[in-house]
Amino acid sequence: MNKQWVSNVLETLSTIGRTQSGGSSRLAFSAADLEARRYFTGLMKEAGLAVREDAFGNIIGRLEGTDSAAPAIGTGSHIDTVPEGGHFDGMVGSTASLAALMRLKERGPLRHPLELIIFQMEESSRFSLSTFGSKVMVGTADLDVARGQKDKEGLSLPEAMNHAGYDFEKLPGAIRHKGELAAFVEMHIEQSANLDEAGIPVGLVTAIAAPIRSHVVIEGKASHSGGTPMNNRKDALVCAADLVLAIRAVGNRFAKKEIVTTVGNLVVSPGAMNVVPGKVELWLDLRGTDRAVMDEAEAAVEKAAEGISAVHGLPIKFRRLVTDTPVRMTPRILEVLEESCRALELPVMRLVSGAGHDTMNVARIADVGMIFIRNKDGLSHHPEEHADIDDIMAGLDLLTETLYRLAK
Ligand SMILES: [Zn+2]
Repeated sequence: MNKQWVSNVLETLSTIGRTQSGGSSRLAFSAADLEARRYFTGLMKEAGLAVREDAFGNIIGRLEGTDSAAPAIGTGSHIDTVPEGGHFDGMVGSTASLAALMRLKERGPLRHPLELIIFQMEESSRFSLSTFGSKVMVGTADLDVARGQKDKEGLSLPEAMNHAGYDFEKLPGAIRHKGELAAFVEMHIEQSANLDEAGIPVGLVTAIAAPIRSHVVIEGKASHSGGTPMNNRKDALVCAADLVLAIRAVGNRFAKKEIVTTVGNLVVSPGAMNVVPGKVELWLDLRGTDRAVMDEAEAAVEKAAEGISAVHGLPIKFRRLVTDTPVRMTPRILEVLEESCRALELPVMRLVSGAGHDTMNVARIADVGMIFIRNKDGLSHHPEEHADIDDIMAGLDLLTETLYRLAK
């Protein structure tokens, strides 16, 4: 598949769920997401793949090999986006994976079957559940937590799935096991600027950092902003302000150990100009590449919260939503990726992924590797997110060669 075909597919995807800002909003199970999925499924069928969907809506396209007993070699990514998302995060890998399979089909059958997987709900924006499709697939999804998650409109995940024609209760049927997939290689834009700064088109991921995410509730007492004297307030927002600063301080303290901490959302109740805030909900996102260090940093946040709670006299409650363990890529796949780079005369650069990807879950049942594509200024989850088509094509060549070597 040539540059024009890849550009056309990316261009078409970019128009689905297009927003005023020039970005795309395709939250999982939304109308725009379903439209993009129909479009992409059509492309997969046109390409001659046998296409099915699992109970969660992960799309699986398969090309048989010459050995029907051999485990499949997989590739793929996702096509859902954050609100006002860009046109490359997920789409580059999905499109290149399909293009790679089409190229390999032309070359003639390989020993192993090939699979293209488009994971559903990679982004956590709608239900605060990240890389959920791949978790469902490998059996690590916490369905009890997921059942109660709601979007901003108050719609639960089971309800949203139902509206889109899926049944939450059937999710256990989507589980796949070790031995079905021998290897999985995902191509994705880098969501940092390491490749851009080094002037290198593609990179080989060695490890994926993982998040610990918690929902935090601070209970104060709402009262009249005029009638409540300063010395007699239970202001949950002032308490939250101290906590946000403390969370940043922990991130700074652990920065050399590859930890980053973020509070990206805060809900203040009742949220009126003339009412002392009675309750604040906030979400902690803590990421690292070493689970022990992540636990240490999380404990430091909770310890700081205890002190802040005591100072303000307000309870602060943490509830863990997500615990992902950092994942190392499989050495054997990294070697094949590196050999393929050499064969294609591409420079070799190894790097760590700060963002989570479906591949970290697939690692539970298969050997894994990831290719990163240079991302201008590392800008992502933004309408102006950009990857150059020539870099994407270099990544496609690398993906094709790697899948060929793994499946032949
Ligand atoms: Zn992504």
